Amino acid sequence: MRICVPKEIKDNEFRVAITPAGVHDLVLHGHEVLIETGAGLGSSITDDQFSAAGAAILPDAVSTWSAAELLLKVKEPVPSEYGYFRADLVLFTYLHLAAEAGLTRALLDAGVTAIAYETVQLPTRALPLLAPMSEVAGRLAPIVGANAMLKPNGGPGLLVPGVPGTHPARVTVLGGGVAGTAAMQVAIGLGAEVTVLDTNLFRLRELDTLHYGRVKTIASNAFEIETALLQSDLVIGSVLIPGARAPKLVSNELVSRMKAGSVLVDIAVDQGGCFADTHPTTHTEPTFTVHGSLFYCVANMPGAVPSTSTYALTNATLPYVRAIANRGWVDALRADASLALGLNTFGGVLTSAPVATAHALPL
Ligand code: NAD
Repeated sequence: MRICVPKEIKDNEFRVAITPAGVHDLVLHGHEVLIETGAGLGSSITDDQFSAAGAAILPDAVSTWSAAELLLKVKEPVPSEYGYFRADLVLFTYLHLAAEAGLTRALLDAGVTAIAYETVQLPTRALPLLAPMSEVAGRLAPIVGANAMLKPNGGPGLLVPGVPGTHPARVTVLGGGVAGTAAMQVAIGLGAEVTVLDTNLFRLRELDTLHYGRVKTIASNAFEIETALLQSDLVIGSVLIPGARAPKLVSNELVSRMKAGSVLVDIAVDQGGCFADTHPTTHTEPTFTVHGSLFYCVANMPGAVPSTSTYALTNATLPYVRAIANRGWVDALRADASLALGLNTFGGVLTSAPVATAHALPL
C-alpha cells in the first residue's frame, strides 16, 4: 500500500505521524512510504533520516496527499486541506469530529474513509491512541509545576525536593488515571511528598500496591480535596469522566485559602477543566494568577515536547497502521473490533453515534 505522511500545518503543531522506525517497519512489510519534505523537522527528524529508513521524500503537500492510499496525520485536517479529500482516500489521524462540524461535512461530501485515533477503544474501554498523550501530559505536569514554583517565574521560590533539613513540596494529584499516575510517578521521582485522590477505590488500591510508602492514596470527596489542597504547594488536576465535562472540584473560594504562590496545573482543561477558574492557555502564555496562586492550563501540553510525543504516539499507532496496510482497511477493521470503533466516516456515511448526535446528522 502507498502510505503518505504530510507535514502538519495546524498552528503550533510540531509532531509528525511516523518515525524512521515506523517507515522501516512498513517498508519491510512491502509498503511504500512517502513523506512530505520537512515533515519531521519539528520533532527533530530529518528528511535524510526518513530516507535512510526507506521513505521517499515528496516536495509538497499536494503531491503527498494525492499519492496517498492511506494518509497518516496527527491533527485533524484544517480547512486548507479539505480540498485534498477524495473517495478513495483512507485517513488515519486524530479527528475529534464531535467538535468539528465543518470537517465532518467535508469528509462526508468527499466520501473519505476516516478512522479517528481517539475513538479506537479496547474491550476494557481504554483508549490506546489517547493514552500516550495523557502519559506525556501527566509526566510533564510536575515539571512545568516545579518550574512555575521558581521565584523568577512568579512562584514562591520552592525547590520541589528541598535539600536535607528542609521540607519537600507537597504535591496533590486529583484523579489517578493514566495522566494522574504519570504525574504522580514524576512527582515522586522529583522527591515531592505526594498525595493522590480518586473516586475509584480499585484504582487507589492498585496505586497503593505499586507505590506503597511513597504516595498517600485518599478517597476523593469535597472534604478530602479541601484538606489536601490547603496543605499543597502544587496541585495537578487529571480527572476524567468519559464523555462528560470535567467536574469542578476546586472552587475559587478554596483557592483563596490555599498557600500564597501555590501552583495549580489543570491537565483536564481540554474537558473544561476541574478548577472553577480554569481557562485554556497556550505555551506562549501558559499561566495566570488567581488569588496569588498560579494556574497552568495549557490544552495541548504534549505540543511542548514533540520529540517525545511523536514517538509516544507512533509507538501506539504503528500496529494499527500496519494492520490497515497489510490487510486493507475493510479486513483490518473486521478483524479488530477495537480498530473498527475508530471508523467515523465512509462513502459519505457517518458511522460514529456521538458525532451524529453532536451535529444532529443521521447515521
Ligand atoms: P483516565 O480516565 O485515565 O483517568 C481519570 C481518572 O479520574 C480516573 O481514575 C477517575 O476515576 C478519576 N476521577 C473521576 N472523577 C473524579 C473525582 N471527582 N475525583 C477524583 N478522581 C476522579 O483519564 P486520563 O487519560 O488520565 O485523562 C485525564 C484528563 O487529561 C482528560 O481530561 C484528558 O483529556 C486530559 N489530557 C489533557 C492533555 C493536555 O494537553 N492538557 C493531554 C492529554 C490528556
